[in-house]
Amino acid sequence: MEKGKLIIFSAPSGSGKTTIVRHLLQYPELKLEFSISATSRPPRGEEKDGEHYYFLSTEDFKKHIKHGDFLEWEEVYRDNFYGTLKTEVERIWAMGKNVIFDIDVAGGLRIKRKFPEETLAVFVKPPSVDELKIRLKKRKTESEDKINMRIAKASVELATAPQFDKIIKNYDLDTAKQEAYDLVAGFIGLHK
Ligand code: 5GP
Repeated sequence: MEKGKLIIFSAPSGSGKTTIVRHLLQYPELKLEFSISATSRPPRGEEKDGEHYYFLSTEDFKKHIKHGDFLEWEEVYRDNFYGTLKTEVERIWAMGKNVIFDIDVAGGLRIKRKFPEETLAVFVKPPSVDELKIRLKKRKTESEDKINMRIAKASVELATAPQFDKIIKNYDLDTAKQEAYDLVAGFIGLHK
């Protein structure tokens, strides 16, 4: 199979990486297709199975682990498993497209190690941990407990930023989106 590129956007929850990934998906010239992860957490809000995630029971998720079906997987939060199925990357490469990932820091670095040549790993940095807290509260999708769990993880994740190929500081969303576009376009060899 012809290999496409792997574009990873990793960041602490609330940094704006999902918004940036969604933005990049609007440009057909980048030939990006979103890697739909599998997760054992329940759907949130309007999330749909097979669109935002493949929602699996914990039991099914563990079966896939046992069968070696994952490119990478992680227990991102306690009892909440997330992972990228090998078939997902194959599906996208078979379409002749590049894969774009919205995954956690550990998962992103693991993919980079497996495919060093094909991967661009980008870390999206929030202005500060305090700002993250404000953004997560505004989102109103998680309980106070869950928000605190995400904040605690964020501090650890911020320390891994230097291991990524590129860092985007998301102080201003429009600037961050433009930077992200330029990085991806450069990496896939597209000249504006
Ligand atoms: P959320 O519950 O907010 O959708 O995602 C929680 C965290 O899990 C986010 O940091 C998200 O990027 C990460 N995540 C989503 N899919 C995957 C995946 O396939 N693998 C890994 N390692 N992390 C993922």
